[in-house]
Order: sequence, then structure tokens, then C-alpha cells
Amino acid sequence: MSNAKIVQLIARRKQLLEELASFTQLLHGTWIERYSVCSRKNCRCHQGERHGPRYYVVVNEDGQQRQKYIPLSQVPAAIKGIEQHQRLQAVVDEITRINLELIKERVYADE
Ligand SMILES: [Zn+2]
Repeated sequence: MSNAKIVQLIARRKQLLEELASFTQLLHGTWIERYSVCSRKNCRCHQGERHGPRYYVVVNEDGQQRQKYIPLSQVPAAIKGIEQHQRLQAVVDEITRINLELIKERVYADE
């Protein structure tokens, strides 16, 4: 591999690392929407018109799945945060490919 190619890979990696720093809304979880019934006996939710949707992100906490309520005002940002996590995984994979190339060239440990 040419030095120019190595310089290019390192520049690309820097760009990816900067992108990682931009993922401020990052959420690692699964989006769910729930409809529910309340405790008021005469409420129409008991006739099938359930309340909702209410929004949650299912996250893993100490190996347990937990549903975290997302208030309506925070929903767009939370959706963005989940998208950022998907992009995060792609960025991590690309950095891994770059670092494997640098290992092959024996220049990875020099950084
Ligand atoms: Zn109700």
C-alpha cells in the first residue's frame, strides 16, 4: 500500500471519529408505540378506543429489557437518536475496516 493511501485512510478515519462526536442524541434501543387502558371504569378505552399511542424506547439495563417512556415533545429527537445509533454501527464497522488495513501495513500501532 502506498503512503498516500495510508494517509487517505487515516484522514477518512479522522472524519468518521468526528462524525461519532456529533451523535448527541444517541439512543441504543428499540422504538415501540403502545396503546393502553386506564383505571376509569366508564372510560371509552374499555370499549376498544385505547389511549395512545404512547412512545417508549426499549433498552437493555444490566441484561434486563426496560421500556422507557418518551414524552411527546421528545419523540422527534428520540427517533433521531435511534437513527444515530444505526449510523454509529456503520461508522464503527468502517473504522474497523480501516484499522485492519493499517494493521496489515504495520502502521496501526504508531498512532
Ligand atoms: Zn381510559
